[in-house]
Amino acid sequence: GGLGEIGKNITVLEYGDDIVIIDCGMGFPEDEMLGIDIVIPDITYLVNNKEKIRGIVITHGHEDHIGSIPYLLRKLDVPIYGTRFSIGLIEKKLLEHQVKTPQLHNVSHGDRVELGCFSVHFIRSNHSIPDASCLAITTPIGVVFHTGDFKIDYTPVGGLPIDLQTIAEYGKKGVLLAMSDSTNVESPGSSMSEGSLTNNFTDIFKKAKKRIVVATFASNVYRIQQIVDAAKIFKRKIVISGRSMVNVVQVATDLGYLTISPELIINVNDINKYKDKELVVISTGSQGEPMAALSRMAASDHRKIELKEGDTVIISASAIPGNEKTINKVINQLYEKNVEVVYDKMQDIHVSGHAKQEDLKLMLTLLQPKFFIPVHGERRH
Ligand SMILES: [Zn+2]
Ligand SMILES: [Zn+2]
Repeated sequence: GGLGEIGKNITVLEYGDDIVIIDCGMGFPEDEMLGIDIVIPDITYLVNNKEKIRGIVITHGHEDHIGSIPYLLRKLDVPIYGTRFSIGLIEKKLLEHQVKTPQLHNVSHGDRVELGCFSVHFIRSNHSIPDASCLAITTPIGVVFHTGDFKIDYTPVGGLPIDLQTIAEYGKKGVLLAMSDSTNVESPGSSMSEGSLTNNFTDIFKKAKKRIVVATFASNVYRIQQIVDAAKIFKRKIVISGRSMVNVVQVATDLGYLTISPELIINVNDINKYKDKELVVISTGSQGEPMAALSRMAASDHRKIELKEGDTVIISASAIPGNEKTINKVINQLYEKNVEVVYDKMQDIHVSGHAKQEDLKLMLTLLQPKFFIPVHGERRH
């Protein structure tokens, strides 16, 4: 999975009697797959060779990298290694699926995990979720370097810039194969920094006279932190809306990736105790998903939150290809209500988590691999 398509990422390295698995994600159904909710990778080969599997290593906690783990664990009993935030999200997911595994292992950036003949080095990187890693895997025939989903961010919000020094050292020693995130290979220039958004959020908050609703990906903890910080400055209370948003905010707060003073958060049932200009709602639904919180608000179908003329809705995300129609529908419904809508075509309120051309060139220049496989892209990428 994950090659020739964006989604259900899973990569298997095999040498002699050892197999190591990189990521185990879910895919998204194509339009013609009617009645199908999720797509998972075909793991027949792994089931047939289960005695060889030494473990699964996780690059980061996005659904397209961890979403199929519960299904795999029902057939295979294997240890999982990942950084703290990824493991936190996996734990939560396994709990929801009622799948038990005692074999979840926290790894820190800089650690090496020995799995049979493979030595897996977790290297700090930047992405639209905390704790993302590049993996340098030393094998008996050379180093396989997997970038994971990455961007190069010199001014990240929370966390540190990608560990270019360690990556360069691998390049100097020699890399047999590089597998690099190719999602944004069509975009010229460098990917913008998360830190570049701060002033734009401040401006929008400054101008807003009534309620603000911000829709973003639940896993984009750094974006949520920016909204929380703006809420604090402009003395607005925060309502967290949508199941995945509530889940991720809880994991991120518990593990220390998100800083929210408890008095800032209010229960959605108390929303009417506050004036409109004292509120910001952080919500799911940035892709126009029909059941998500924002779509319900737009359709006047949300049981607790009502949008009125003069409210501001910020859609802090870009459309995943295929979702444009549903997002447009939500935007139109919001305009119908005379709500101010701010989305990425109007103002910079979103940055991509994936490397653009200049970042990809830098990565390749540092690694100088003998072989190269672009991953995390369709054929055209
Ligand atoms: Zn990702
Ligand atoms: Zn991904």
